Amino acid sequence: MKEAPGITGLILNEPLLWEKGKKGRRGFSLPRRDVDFCPLDENLTSKTLDFPDLSEVDVIRHYTRLSQWNFGVDTGMYPLGSCTMKYNPKINEKQARLQGFAGAHPLLPHTLSQGALKLMFELERLLAEITGMDAVSLQPAAGAQGELTGMLLIHAFHKSKGIRRSKIIIPDTAHGTNPSSAALCGYRPVHVKSNEQGVLSVEAIAEVMNEDTAGIMVTNPNTLGLFEKNLKEIAEIVHSKGGLVYGDGANMNAIMGMVQMGQIGADIMHLNLHKTFSTPHGGGGPGSGPVCVKKHLEPFLPVPRVAQESDRYVLSEDFPESIGRLHAFFGNFGVMVKAYSYIQSMGPDNLKKASQLAVLNANYIQEMLKGTLHLAYDRPCMHECVFSDKLQQPHKVMTLDMAKRLMDYGFHPPTVYFPLIVNGAIMIEPTETESKEDLDLFIEACKAISNEAQQTPQLLLEAPQKCKVRRMDETAAARRPCLAG
Ligand SMILES: *Cc1c(COP(=O)(O)O)cnc(C)c1O
Repeated sequence: MKEAPGITGLILNEPLLWEKGKKGRRGFSLPRRDVDFCPLDENLTSKTLDFPDLSEVDVIRHYTRLSQWNFGVDTGMYPLGSCTMKYNPKINEKQARLQGFAGAHPLLPHTLSQGALKLMFELERLLAEITGMDAVSLQPAAGAQGELTGMLLIHAFHKSKGIRRSKIIIPDTAHGTNPSSAALCGYRPVHVKSNEQGVLSVEAIAEVMNEDTAGIMVTNPNTLGLFEKNLKEIAEIVHSKGGLVYGDGANMNAIMGMVQMGQIGADIMHLNLHKTFSTPHGGGGPGSGPVCVKKHLEPFLPVPRVAQESDRYVLSEDFPESIGRLHAFFGNFGVMVKAYSYIQSMGPDNLKKASQLAVLNANYIQEMLKGTLHLAYDRPCMHECVFSDKLQQPHKVMTLDMAKRLMDYGFHPPTVYFPLIVNGAIMIEPTETESKEDLDLFIEACKAISNEAQQTPQLLLEAPQKCKVRRMDETAAARRPCLAG
């Protein structure tokens, strides 16, 4: 007998539609044909097409069941550090779906796109204000593409001065995309170690910064969830040797309305609208990584740029020093609508409050769990905290086992084994949208798991037990992926 559905209560199994189909089933009834029969092209017979025959119920159940396998931030806590999986208010989705926005065609002349252009223009101004920068391009489609844009801007800046530089300084806490973006642009990443407090020291930068170094990429707060408190002095050193400072703003959720990176030395920074400004992410949907720059880099920004001419908005290509175009048309417009709607509906005070709550929530978890889990850097954190499995290792229980066991308690696991500088890292980012009650449940679950690690470690090694899919062979999944289902 085949495996019965319902292996975990009412979360049902679901075969492929091809396995489910039965010859002769129909999902709809066509009206009687009133034209002559005309066979399909011979190469396109139903044999080669091989579509399953399905009833309406087959199809409805198939997709509804699959949708119930999803775990998302709308289902429960999703404390994935470094990713900012916060709740995205549905009103922003609704605005993006308005017919005038959703149906706008990028090839319409600007005279018929005034509303969309105005929104882009104003969003650029809002992001400039939030970051303390002077000009913005909304074109890049993701953080990583924003970084690449930033590297191209740095290159264009030096080139305009007739200077060639070959290196970029990158701290050991950086996201992997940082060195990749630098390398893609032809720069050699120079790695710098963080100090024992988990941040960059002025001395470490002074030692490596020289006239062959084009600049530095710094994430602030960094990927340990710590504020780079020496950044202002570091920026002065980099600037004094003719370099530029790139700020990776993926962690902006911690500092909205609190810190303007432009004021503490950044020349360029990207934001991830899909992390901080209300676009759901994680499933590979469209993103947006606007790049914000100081005045001296504005001439190099990608084209076309949205400009205001008396009472109308136009798209201008008239920037002879521009690095050119990075994306078809103007970027992912729907994401911009959501960010605009989010920022306007929150207002400056509430954006600031969101950051304060994100930091408060992370510090609450850090304080409540230290001792249960080993805290990598024992000092107040920003929006995320980083633990390790050091205290569980004597019981032969590792980070992965605890992460899997959390699923049995109904929580999406946190980010694991990142950042790389913490062995067996467990990186928790609760975000501002979790209530104290939910944080407490999560904390209780972590404590219960830590007890299990001492008393019944086998439970953890076999976790998850209550999920539809149990522990997977991750090596096989990576080496021999089964893409058919
Ligand atoms: C997510 C992230 C990135 C990359 O952003 P994408 O939009 O995923 O390309 C870069 N840096 C940091 C610190 C991040 O967290």
